[in-house]
Amino acid sequence: MQKIPFLTLDKVREIVKTYPTPWHIYDEKGIRENAKKLNEAFSWNKGFKEYFAVKATPNPFIMNILKECGCGMDCSSMTELELSDACGFSGKDIMFSSNETPIEEFKFANELGAIINLDDITHIEYVEKACGKLPETMSARYNPGGVFTMSNGIMDNPGDAKYGMTPDQIIEAFNIMKSKGVKYFGIHAFLASNTVTNEYYPKLAKELFEFAVRIKNECGICVSFINLSGGVGIPYTPDQEPNDIFEIGKGVKKVYDEVLVANGIKDVAIFTELGRYMLGPYGALVTEAIHEKHTHKEYIGVDACAVNLMRPAMYGAYHHLSVLGKEEEIADRTYDIVGSLCENNDKFAIDRKLPKIDKGDYIYIHDTGAHGFSMGYNYNGKLRSAELLLQEGGSVKMIRRAETDKDYFATFDFCNILDKYLK
Ligand SMILES: *Cc1c(COP(=O)(O)O)cnc(C)c1O
Repeated sequence: MQKIPFLTLDKVREIVKTYPTPWHIYDEKGIRENAKKLNEAFSWNKGFKEYFAVKATPNPFIMNILKECGCGMDCSSMTELELSDACGFSGKDIMFSSNETPIEEFKFANELGAIINLDDITHIEYVEKACGKLPETMSARYNPGGVFTMSNGIMDNPGDAKYGMTPDQIIEAFNIMKSKGVKYFGIHAFLASNTVTNEYYPKLAKELFEFAVRIKNECGICVSFINLSGGVGIPYTPDQEPNDIFEIGKGVKKVYDEVLVANGIKDVAIFTELGRYMLGPYGALVTEAIHEKHTHKEYIGVDACAVNLMRPAMYGAYHHLSVLGKEEEIADRTYDIVGSLCENNDKFAIDRKLPKIDKGDYIYIHDTGAHGFSMGYNYNGKLRSAELLLQEGGSVKMIRRAETDKDYFATFDFCNILDKYLK
């Protein structure tokens, strides 16, 4: 499917008058429409709730939009909990799915009334120590080991993942927690990442539903919720077919009826913890071509770099590029599109077929709405960019300012060495 930017060249020219590139921008209309579809696709389930994975796009303006769409928040660190609290999320609208968790984070999660999703059986005592006693509601993260394979060959390796407990450990953990007064239980699993297939959730759901039947038989517990977590993907490349969330919702309902309802387990709420699916396509990084270099290869140097978007450098991930205003031109050049880091992996694209790029052209990097800005870092003393919101009416609002050298030096404010730059 052709990938179409949600911004035109004219709009970018207007925006850069106020906000110089590079910046990430999010499409409010797209975010809201997509969230609405997800809720519709699972409306057959009374307790359905999406807990947005805060780590994908930890911005309070985005979190508030999702709040208005009925979402909760999925956190895994202190600052993510604090952000959610500040945005007015509390109690069961926060899921705390962390691992290797410091004690004060369990304590704070419990104070907010969040649902704690336990990553290991040994953490039962740790949570008791953190919270005084176990909360009434507890969740456990499931990891069956081995390889998770789907019919189209997509697979992932839960057996190599540090997360979760073995099924036997969950049975034991639930028996222990029940004896210690826990009343409501849930199970959670994240077994494959960025799955561009309608098959993942139904297959995962079936496995978890069957495990819920085992829990009923062996612990006498009917779980209250089943959290399918993240992993529903997006088509980063133009040749991929996007997931159909309605097909996915139907697929989960089918196995819900076949496994849970057929075994007398009713009223189980289905939760999701999507990040990429909620935000990925509705964000873009816009950067200006500032240099061209002709050596052993053809390079275009841009004013963004891997600190603004790490996925290509970190995983060799593909992000589609559009040269704004040249969408219809023939892609008869082959470029490496590179940033300014002193790291040779700082390349947004390698050997990419694109139309001729001139200095001053704006390059629109697609699908940066999730795990984009948020993976940013400060290597080479590079600063994080601004985040902008394209509002429903078409106006643009800054939702995070760009970092300045003062932010970068702020952690030296206890001494006077950098006063010259901190004033
Ligand atoms: C990262 C993460 C998610 C979201 O993953 P996506 O690939 O963005 O859908 C959900 N739950 C947990 C626990 C995570 O760590």
